[in-house]
Amino acid sequence: MTRKHTPVKELNASLSSLAQVDFKSGQLLHGKGFLNLMDLPRIVDELNKRSLGDNFSDQGLVWELHSWIDELPGGGEEYRIQLTLDLLYPLECQRCLKPFLDELHLVSQFIMKDSLEDVENFPLDNDDEDALLASPQFQLLELIEDEILLNLPLIPKHPPEVCESKMIYVPGVVDGIEENIHNEAENLSKNPFASLKKLKFDA
Ligand SMILES: [Zn+2]
Repeated sequence: MTRKHTPVKELNASLSSLAQVDFKSGQLLHGKGFLNLMDLPRIVDELNKRSLGDNFSDQGLVWELHSWIDELPGGGEEYRIQLTLDLLYPLECQRCLKPFLDELHLVSQFIMKDSLEDVENFPLDNDDEDALLASPQFQLLELIEDEILLNLPLIPKHPPEVCESKMIYVPGVVDGIEENIHNEAENLSKNPFASLKKLKFDA
């Protein structure tokens, strides 16, 4: 496939413009900007469920979009976009309960289709790209939010090598239970007769 050379138009990065981008006309677009977390209530809601830290007012995400047209060998054209998202957000580590700044880096590619039928028939197992319905008033802001929401970690934690918690991390084990097991095992190993002594005094 070869890429068609046509002029690229710079996208207006204001919130209202991002709510209606023309992907129908075939105009090539490039855009880049910063979105404050305060302007992304759906993401703030989800982060709050995962204990969003304080002082997030100056945090947010950097987005970049570019589009291109692939010319097919047998004629015809395919319009594609690539979205790069970098989100920084303060959270409370669910293992050591200390605040930390987590980051999410995403690169997603989409092909624009002209009918809903074409979007629905697009193979789900395509790992390289997803299909979207081309529209003259495409909700780019919503797509950006969706991509972030789909990729937020369920339980935010420091990477094991950075976390200050001394607990051994076993996936799937609730941290509190894990700590109790750990402490009991430690007590037993310190004094193997501890439980025996207790029996004696009880008698
Ligand atoms: Zn931690």
